[in-house]
Amino acid sequence: MRERIDRIAEPWGDRTPYRPGQPWPVRRDAHLTGDGVDRWVPAASLLHSNGDAMDVAVRDGRIVGVRGRADDRVNRGRLGPKDLFGWQANHARDRLTVPLVRRGGELEESDWDTAMGLVVDRSKHLLEEHGPGAIGFYTSGQLFLEEYYTLAVTARAGIGTNHLDGNTRLCTATAAEALKETFGCDGQPASYTDVDHCDTLALFGHNMAETQPVLWMRVLDRLAGPEPPRLLCVDPRPTPAAARSEVHLAPRTGTNVALLNALLHELVRTDRIDHAYVRAHTVGYQELAAGVAKCTPQWAARICDVPAREIQRAAELLGEARKLLSTVLQGVYQSHQATAAAVQVNNLQLLRGMLGRPGCGVLQMNGQPTAENTRECGADGDLPGFRNWENAAHVAELAKLWNVEEERIPHYGAPTPAMQIFRYAEQGSIKLLWISGTNPAVSLPELARIRELLRSEGLFTVVQDLYPTETALLADVVLPAATWGEKTGTFTNADRTVHLCEQAVQPPGQARPDLDILLDYARRMDFRDRDGAPLIGWHDAPGAFEAWQRCSAGRPCDYTGLSYELLRERGGIQWPCDAEHPDGTERLYSDGISWAAPDTCETYGRDLVTGAAVSETEYRALNPGGRAVLKAAEYLPPHEDVSAEHPLQLTTGRTLYHFHTRTKTGRTPQLDAAAPGMWVEIGAGEARSRGLGEGDLVEVATARGAVRARLRVTAIRDGLLFLPFHYGYWDTPGRTGPGPDGGRAANETTVTDWDPVSKQPLYKTAAARLTRIAPADGTPAPAPTTTASAPADPAAAPPTTGGPDALADQRPDPAPEATP
Ligand code: SF4
Repeated sequence: MRERIDRIAEPWGDRTPYRPGQPWPVRRDAHLTGDGVDRWVPAASLLHSNGDAMDVAVRDGRIVGVRGRADDRVNRGRLGPKDLFGWQANHARDRLTVPLVRRGGELEESDWDTAMGLVVDRSKHLLEEHGPGAIGFYTSGQLFLEEYYTLAVTARAGIGTNHLDGNTRLCTATAAEALKETFGCDGQPASYTDVDHCDTLALFGHNMAETQPVLWMRVLDRLAGPEPPRLLCVDPRPTPAAARSEVHLAPRTGTNVALLNALLHELVRTDRIDHAYVRAHTVGYQELAAGVAKCTPQWAARICDVPAREIQRAAELLGEARKLLSTVLQGVYQSHQATAAAVQVNNLQLLRGMLGRPGCGVLQMNGQPTAENTRECGADGDLPGFRNWENAAHVAELAKLWNVEEERIPHYGAPTPAMQIFRYAEQGSIKLLWISGTNPAVSLPELARIRELLRSEGLFTVVQDLYPTETALLADVVLPAATWGEKTGTFTNADRTVHLCEQAVQPPGQARPDLDILLDYARRMDFRDRDGAPLIGWHDAPGAFEAWQRCSAGRPCDYTGLSYELLRERGGIQWPCDAEHPDGTERLYSDGISWAAPDTCETYGRDLVTGAAVSETEYRALNPGGRAVLKAAEYLPPHEDVSAEHPLQLTTGRTLYHFHTRTKTGRTPQLDAAAPGMWVEIGAGEARSRGLGEGDLVEVATARGAVRARLRVTAIRDGLLFLPFHYGYWDTPGRTGPGPDGGRAANETTVTDWDPVSKQPLYKTAAARLTRIAPADGTPAPAPTTTASAPADPAAAPPTTGGPDALADQRPDPAPEATP
């Protein structure tokens, strides 16, 4: 193994092969600037959902680098490119360091008293005049558990509003919903260690190499070792995972349910079903089998535009697996019939009896590092502790815990999802919107609409963030927040691993931890419980963690066995962790399905096609014994299809080197240089037939809006365009929106539409037209060549490299000392 390599040019580093059932060998990655480290402070990655454990290097009160934690279960010492370089964004020169207040149309520097005074005055006035429904909160997948829980108590029992959601709605809402629909409860059934054991790995709409690069290193190391797993990849793009797969299916976007129904059809037809498991642990088999009876591979092939033979091969792979691990991400979650498709993957696992054993399971992935925490804590459209808002006993538990009347906690309807919060703001019933750690002016669909809404006089917007984002620049009050490395708290990754992230340095200027801002608000609002004591009785992160432990006790996400001390000592630990499971829980459902019983489940479920709620009575009749529910879903064509005017399908997605709207990665030199600007991807056959080539300046237009960028010709399926969604305007002359050169944010083009079950917006099923604005001038598209964006003709663009600044260490675990 080489000791130092360019981790932009070689994002996954060198291999440490291993065989099934062996522990993943250690490889310690590090990137340090300058000489000397005063101390190392434990943390975990904030730039994807893998939750890689690392130590932050501090010298002279500044962060100067990171190293992976060799003893941690999640990454065994490895770090991805965003982990290695992303910390530099903490030092960006444009960090917000003082509160800003809009006066005479301009944001002016202010102080905390003035800014919080304005927010509190407006909140009190609105509560008095219009009631709690006039106030909404839209948070992130970037804060800590302690902050989400404090926010949930503030919004639910302090203000008493139903309008609280996270940007996790754009990312992970379908994962949560799919788990709830099948298992009656959110929470990842599998563990990352299942990669060490599986013999078949199926990736559904999950470009793991770019979204969870460290998990992909684990897969690459299995592929390099003896008895490697067989891979199935469903993705319309030529991803690195597709390149390593035995079967790669590249369906038309919006057709996932048709494809999955055909795979289920084949399993039933060939009787590759674990009938004993199905009988013991599920309900709904007959309905599911009947639902897929007509969904032959030939039928799906016509809809999905993939060969029927390949669908059969994929079904054989799944059917022959002895240890099957399936993963799902945005190619499913942000697409048409999102929950219906994600649930069919759960069905696949259940039919094959592949759950609760090493190497067998499903990972309904998250994109964000702390998405799991928004879900557990109830900051995302659920009640805290995975409680069911329709179950009076669950609401009563919360009321007792918070010492408030039950009516104080809004539960007259499901918590409001983000797309509806913005609709209410547009219609005028929400008059104050508090946005923390997220950037809807780039990340929501149909941006022209969102910009207009954020600018409107009738909406008072509070933005709590690190930088002058596109959203912050449109706000009425901007609150400067501290970030990772500057505050203490815990966060939980996609496989339920909890890490402690400790404060390493002071935040810049007057920036404060999000927790302090929320506690300050609660104090100034003077929220009280039924005995007149402060509603929020904690004052710091450890206090908030203890309060959360009480709330989680006895629920699936039980944290009562965890403590900051234990996390310090042991690194990542998976919940539930309680007296019964003091070491945490590697995988759920090892002893059958645990949380789907009518009295304990988080939801009674929904119809997968219409989104209509299943009533408590119906659920009790369907699933009295609390088994997993096999739910069928018929395929429906996408709402927006191609036409003469918009003949191409359009999908959006991300690249390895950026995260979200580039608020952090755009301020990281190595990452920014690897993918410095917007591009458009088209397939080689499509480009040829249209007389287009690499580097042409093109416009992509839909019924909503347009973007302009240079063309990258790749091996993506014909008939499809791809836009990376990261690029906005903060670093362009327009700052909040398109300038004279046209739009560059992918969401200028996407549609205001969402999945009926998870309410997750659809970013992957637009119809568009493509126009050449100018021929190439010799400049290739600024897309990386190391990823799914690699040019079909390798000579078309110079290889992406990082140079000396991107050199990082990688070392194998030292061999044990020889005993004399
Ligand atoms: S980049 Fe995609 S997957 Fe990642 S957090 Fe954002 S929406 Fe989720």
